[in-house]
Amino acid sequence: MSLDMLTIPAQCVAESRIAELDYNNIEFGKIFADHMLVADYKDSAWQIPQILPYGNMSLSPATSAIHYGQSIFEGMKAYKDANGDILLFRPLDNFRRLNKSAERMCMPAITEDIFMQGLEQLLRLDAAWVPPTPGCALYIRPFMFATDEFIGVRPSSNYRFAVFTCPVGAYYGQALKVAIEPHYVRSAEGGAGFAKAAGNYGAALLPAKAMQERGYHQLIWTDAREHKYIEESGTMNLMFVLDGKLITPPVSTTILAGITRDSVLQLAQGLGYTVEERKVSVDELVEAYKAGMLQEAFGTGTAATIAQIATIHYDGLDMDLPAVEGREISNRISTELDKIKTGEAPDLYNWVH
Ligand code: PMP
Repeated sequence: MSLDMLTIPAQCVAESRIAELDYNNIEFGKIFADHMLVADYKDSAWQIPQILPYGNMSLSPATSAIHYGQSIFEGMKAYKDANGDILLFRPLDNFRRLNKSAERMCMPAITEDIFMQGLEQLLRLDAAWVPPTPGCALYIRPFMFATDEFIGVRPSSNYRFAVFTCPVGAYYGQALKVAIEPHYVRSAEGGAGFAKAAGNYGAALLPAKAMQERGYHQLIWTDAREHKYIEESGTMNLMFVLDGKLITPPVSTTILAGITRDSVLQLAQGLGYTVEERKVSVDELVEAYKAGMLQEAFGTGTAATIAQIATIHYDGLDMDLPAVEGREISNRISTELDKIKTGEAPDLYNWVH
């Protein structure tokens, strides 16, 4: 099916709920914009999508996704520029990554026109929900799940793709205390760690909670084989500045290929910094810390863009890193990236849609 020339049929709300939104006090992930996009897959094809009022979906208790976990998602943000135009940051990369997740989870690929035209039309309709306030954005959640009413482990024949959005406030998070995980694993080679599959997140909750009870915001995953190499953290890829060089683990089948990660690497190279994508061992970090060479550490992700790390814990040692204010590379790139996303800086990399 092609959506060329076709407007997605929309059933609009009688009255918008936008008046309930206090732009200065937005709780992350709790307030949803008026409309959602829904498309169903049946008889081996995506059906014409629809825009509907945001609301509950009726599901059978035997819905396959609930039992066997064929469920994937994406996370992206829209911003308003100074003219009030809505800007999406690298949406085609989210589209491609969703389809990589779909392939790994034995689900059908969504078509580019349903994804992109669906997003465009949904955002036009809910334009008032994209906060104009600096630092705020409209968070967008595309997702797909298996809808067969069937008990038995096999790929579903029916799926639903949907997109809803929620306005989110500025991210004024404090610098994080993180701890290197010595026991649990998030993913292993040959597994599904590179996919944004719902089950990856469910399985990460218990280890993260245990770390929080020990006083850390997040944990750092290490490789499944030896717990020797750094992987990623929560919903962020990780980067370190060691002796003036920006270093990050390479993406693999065990690490999600973050779009922020890729953007930061491209910007850093463009700004003339030395960038290395290579394995980073826990021992290397500890040695660099002891030698005073571990200058910066931060996570990259859609939620925070760049989340500074204040402390890394490993095996009884709290490695306290230099003050955030003095971190040249991450602060410079963070500012630069935020400016590109909101149209304040020229889009040299063609990222803004
Ligand atoms: N790793 C994981 C496991 C994530 O869930 C995310 C968030 N999507 C990231 C890294 C960062 O990816 P992105 O920069 O595309 O948001």
